[in-house]
Amino acid sequence: MKVDLLDLKAQYQTIEEEVDKAIKDVLVSTHFVMGPNVKKLEEEIAEFTGVKYGIGVANGTDALMLTLKAYGIKENDEVITTPFTFFASAETTSVVGATPVFADIDEKTLCIDPDKIEEKITSRTKAIIPVHIFGQMCDMDRIMEIAEKHNLIVIEDACQAIGAEYKGKKAGSIGHVGCYSFFPTKNLGGYGDGGMIVTNDSEINEKLKLLRVHGSAKKYVHSLIGHNSRLDEIQAAVLRVKLKYITKWNDLRNEKAQIYNDLLKEQQIQLPFMNEDCKHVYHMYSIQHYDRDKIIEELKQKGISTGVYYPIPVHFQEVYEHLNHKVGDFPVAEDACKKTFALPLYPEISLEQQKYVVEAIKEYFN
Ligand SMILES: *Cc1c(COP(=O)(O)O)cnc(C)c1O
Repeated sequence: MKVDLLDLKAQYQTIEEEVDKAIKDVLVSTHFVMGPNVKKLEEEIAEFTGVKYGIGVANGTDALMLTLKAYGIKENDEVITTPFTFFASAETTSVVGATPVFADIDEKTLCIDPDKIEEKITSRTKAIIPVHIFGQMCDMDRIMEIAEKHNLIVIEDACQAIGAEYKGKKAGSIGHVGCYSFFPTKNLGGYGDGGMIVTNDSEINEKLKLLRVHGSAKKYVHSLIGHNSRLDEIQAAVLRVKLKYITKWNDLRNEKAQIYNDLLKEQQIQLPFMNEDCKHVYHMYSIQHYDRDKIIEELKQKGISTGVYYPIPVHFQEVYEHLNHKVGDFPVAEDACKKTFALPLYPEISLEQQKYVVEAIKEYFN
């Protein structure tokens, strides 16, 4: 049997007719940039998230970068984030000229540890970027409390967590701003790049709408130096179809994760932690064991693909050598990078496939 980490073809087959029609409608309209689908998707995602505004942009990385710019974050500023994430969570801080400052993660959730944030705050700190890693929400009450006390902006990197909830509130709706990615492999993935910023802040909404299109509210009138970072109309049309199914798909991910939890519970593997106050959306079903590389090899022999998220913590990336981090600076994140790996999980995965994966893991330990 062959089991892929993710099977986008299986999902496409379930929505093929609707998606094909949505794309065809855009082709017929020839309204390819900033058309009605972008506007409607912005409203629909804002409503889904429970906030006032949605601003479509070219990708999740730009969502973070434009938000940092909108808040005026620049040279000599510092932004606190996690070292256990996709590079873009920190990279965007560097793109606007500021410095990423890392705080270690919580052993259980693998999200930034609120207890480690405060000691990193200096007079230069302007913002915190909590990352809801693998679809699990950070401890947002504690993070918001720290941010309020020190007058910091909170930018939720919800690129892996659309639809996740913390005490009934959706990912992206708790901080000053939330950022989504519609990269094809994300829980709400387009058929190309895409991203969105969500916020209740009307001033930031206005500013972002300028920044994404050359600082211009009116054609050929420019009030800011901006970017060309628009969400594509064809992507918006596809995403509007997919948004109708996101809750169902996230619920299916939860069901399938529970199946793995039950089937794997007697093994020596560390299973994903689930916070009782939260709805996890299992962007990744990530488990932990120091034999990771050997287990992965064994699974590969049996046609099962896995993913290592993340093999290198951000503070050890070559480009951040100048930050002078050493082994042991963020021990929990460094340890996680040695033992985490993701099993195949997506809404359409079959019970047979999951059982096959579990059998292969059991065979490794026997
Ligand atoms: C995917 C991702 C991003 C970047 O999104 P793109 O759309 O690929 O630019 C940022 N942060 C995290 C945590 C991500 O997983």
